[in-house]
Amino acid sequence: MEIKTLVVGPLLTNCYLLISNGEAIVIDPGAGFKRILQELKGKKLLYIILTHYHWDHVLAAQALKEKTGAKILIHKGEKDFIKFQPDQFLDGGEEIKIGKEYLKIIHTPGHSKGSIAVVGENFIFVGDTLFKDGFGTTALPGGSEKELKETLKMMKKLIKPETKIYPGHGESFFLKDSILK
Ligand SMILES: [Zn+2]
Repeated sequence: MEIKTLVVGPLLTNCYLLISNGEAIVIDPGAGFKRILQELKGKKLLYIILTHYHWDHVLAAQALKEKTGAKILIHKGEKDFIKFQPDQFLDGGEEIKIGKEYLKIIHTPGHSKGSIAVVGENFIFVGDTLFKDGFGTTALPGGSEKELKETLKMMKKLIKPETKIYPGHGESFFLKDSILK
């Protein structure tokens, strides 16, 4: 799996492009529509996966879908907070195929009700749930400190030492270098 990071929009959101065997998935296209399209040249975009509903993670999703025909996926917990129509609501537990590889969706509520993580062989995309030096705010609509604590506990068990963690903002890191160590 090839992973490309594009830093987009005023809040410097990490938009991730995953590429395998000519197929692609975009995670959190918060802005940068033209740059994303440029990067996708020659690849088939299958899905646009949104880790949560916040505007800085979703703003370019609709335009990208219209241009490429890719499906927008977001967790059902975000239903009341979004202004666009996704193609599929996720429950968590889904496996998503790209190239010859599979990604797993896990529900990680706390930063928002329907926050998710996208898990691969030796990497995980965590949205705004976890950063190198902290974790996401629970002060916005749908946020819950209690749920975030449970989620972080679960993640600490789930994430292996060799798993690279890709957050919604800032640089990627390993568990041992994070606040969860
Ligand atoms: Zn957020």
